[in-house]
Amino acid sequence: MIVGVHPIAGFDKLLHYKVPERLAPAVAKGSLVRVPIGRRFVLGIVGMVGAPDDFPVDRLKHIAELVYDFPALPADLLELAKWMAVYYAAPLDGIIETMLPGAVRRAAALKQEKLLVVGEKLTPEEVAALEKKAPQQAKLYLFLVQQFKPVSKPLVLKRLGVGASSLNALLKRGAVREEARRVNRVAYSDDFAEGELVAALPHLLNEQQQAAYEALKAEIERDTFGVTLLQGVTGSGKTEVYLRAIHEALETGGGVVFLVPEVALTPQTVARLRSRLEAIAPGQNAVVWHSLLSEGERVDGWHELATGRARIVVGARSAIFAPVQNLRLIVVDEEHEPAYKQDETPRYHGRDVAVMRAKLNNALCVLGSATPSLESYANAQAGRYKHLHMTQRIDDRQLPFIDVVDMRIEVMRSRGMTTLSQKLVGEMRDRFERKEQTILFLNRRGYSSSMICRSCGHVEECPHCSISMTYHRADEVLRCHLCGHERGAPVRCPECDSPEIRWRGTGTQRVEEAVQRVLPRARIERMDTDTMSKKNRFRQVLQAFRAGQIDILVGTQMIAKGLDFPNVTLVGLVDADISMHMPDFRATERTFQLLVQVAGRAGRGDRAGVVVVQTFTPQAEAIQFSRHADFDGFAEGELKLRKDFGYPPYRHLIHHSFRGPNPEKLMFFAEQWARHVEKEMGERLEVRGPSPSPIEKVKDHYRFQVWYFTHGVTRVIADLNRLRREFSWPDDVIQVMDVDPVNL
Ligand code: ADP
Ligand code: ZN
Ligand code: ZN
Repeated sequence: MIVGVHPIAGFDKLLHYKVPERLAPAVAKGSLVRVPIGRRFVLGIVGMVGAPDDFPVDRLKHIAELVYDFPALPADLLELAKWMAVYYAAPLDGIIETMLPGAVRRAAALKQEKLLVVGEKLTPEEVAALEKKAPQQAKLYLFLVQQFKPVSKPLVLKRLGVGASSLNALLKRGAVREEARRVNRVAYSDDFAEGELVAALPHLLNEQQQAAYEALKAEIERDTFGVTLLQGVTGSGKTEVYLRAIHEALETGGGVVFLVPEVALTPQTVARLRSRLEAIAPGQNAVVWHSLLSEGERVDGWHELATGRARIVVGARSAIFAPVQNLRLIVVDEEHEPAYKQDETPRYHGRDVAVMRAKLNNALCVLGSATPSLESYANAQAGRYKHLHMTQRIDDRQLPFIDVVDMRIEVMRSRGMTTLSQKLVGEMRDRFERKEQTILFLNRRGYSSSMICRSCGHVEECPHCSISMTYHRADEVLRCHLCGHERGAPVRCPECDSPEIRWRGTGTQRVEEAVQRVLPRARIERMDTDTMSKKNRFRQVLQAFRAGQIDILVGTQMIAKGLDFPNVTLVGLVDADISMHMPDFRATERTFQLLVQVAGRAGRGDRAGVVVVQTFTPQAEAIQFSRHADFDGFAEGELKLRKDFGYPPYRHLIHHSFRGPNPEKLMFFAEQWARHVEKEMGERLEVRGPSPSPIEKVKDHYRFQVWYFTHGVTRVIADLNRLRREFSWPDDVIQVMDVDPVNL
């Protein structure tokens, strides 16, 4: 038997090997094997069984090991990997590596759990003979006889100082048996369940939920590929609808992938899911999948799925690669979240990969959000996706009232810096007295280099790209990082002539201090990536908050997701502007999403909520439309703008960055390259740049970038990648290509 193997070895090639006879029955497409390359042994995935005709078979080496006796990379994932390699212009072996968790590749835990136990008993004579002839074997055998239960193989060999050859002799003879016991540490993750796993009874669906559920059910029954966008306002009960759909898929014997933006940050979502699943599908524990799992938990969860013992996985981005069998349904919750995009190679988008995986499996992909990405929205509008709406909150709860505070007036009033407006302080004081809770949000993506006039709210934009210009302190210029357009940085506002034109960011710490000053008796807790690097800390704070031990929670928008606190009646967004004036064409979309999501956190209980939004640009569309959570109104205007400028979703964007120690050389090559691409690709691609990156220098490496705009990535990417390989780059230039970039 000959197989073609994709080695995980830093190059993209299919190498052929012979398979030893004893392994042949278990080796198949997708098997994880260890193979010799030169003097090394590396892991690889069997990509094909058999070899081309008259292939020089004689000189082939043998595969060295079959790591699991089932395909570690099921057929659909292998196909998916190949698609990703093309679409994201990324090496196949790196993608395979991403799909197989490190712990699985190391196969660590499974091997450590090899156990030894006495097999056929030896007679006393045989033992005596053994003691003479092979004392090592006798020692091992006698030790095992004294044990009551199987014992760990590596442990016992180490402790007795017995070599593998002695053990092998005993195994061959049958006097000792090897067993593999699997201690199950599958992350049905007790880390995240808050207390016992209780089956939570299903809600009686309201009319809109019922309609959405029936539509999804019909899609599942169609048993063919489809994508459905479930657009439902915050608090409309989307989770309940997903759960019913999941139940449906399980009933038909199918498997399910449920993606959430960041599991580790949404313990509540996971806990709720698990208890609800327990009610509708008892015993069908969902495997939890995210970056904080221990090696053992990871291996076991993976193993349960790969062998079909578990059929549901709940996890963040990388869970889209979980080896779920017979996949029927993929749910991508909060599909608009930038967290679905991976920031390192392979730079894939979890949502887009989910759609592709569903396609490869003839499965249904459900994208859910209150504020869909404009990409998905446009797909739905064009009829490529089914579009479902849920417009009412559960029990007809009111969407909270959004109060927009004009910070230009606050600045005038206080004659200087203000962090908290009088309005916000007044509302907080109110909640504190009524023993209700407040959450204050800040923008995580604070960018000190954007410029805004504190008197009139003016922001300088690039005339060619409709994104805000970035301030570069070193040479006192404003620069567009898309096209490189440049102008001297103004000292006074071009609109109103005020000298107050520089934006200074507001850190969570500063907000915390400001709150402390106005409400000295309030119990305040801060939550941002700095203070929350430990998962338990995050949980503790959330628990304390739920238990009412904290009055005011200050945090970045990472806490805006999926939290459901009935006693929170006030939500403040301290700095609505920052995200709006990021040098990113999605800035407005992000701001709108943030406002709506944040507002969705208020008034989840019986009391109506209030949202206070502080901004220097109260007239901005993102803010006006968010007041009524009017997504469709917002999308209409924004899509028109995108169309005029040829931005996504109307064209795809590819970002190409260059790094190196020598800026002149770098710029020279980037320029040469850009013109070369322009010439070679012609009409199929619009090239913008090169221009310096927004952060021009990191660790003494300078950075430039080129942007490509195109109508069809799949049609150009292979050519672009080929050109890139053929171009003679200097050795010290590092380049990275990012297809459909999300965080510009
Ligand atoms: P969304 O994800 O759309 O923002 P959720 O799924 O979080 O909304 O639902 C909001 C709240 O309403 C949750 O506390 C949920 O348990 C509750 N809920 C959902 N469906 C129903 C229903 N049919 N009847 C009563 N409560 C419901
Ligand atoms: Zn101004
Ligand atoms: Zn520009």
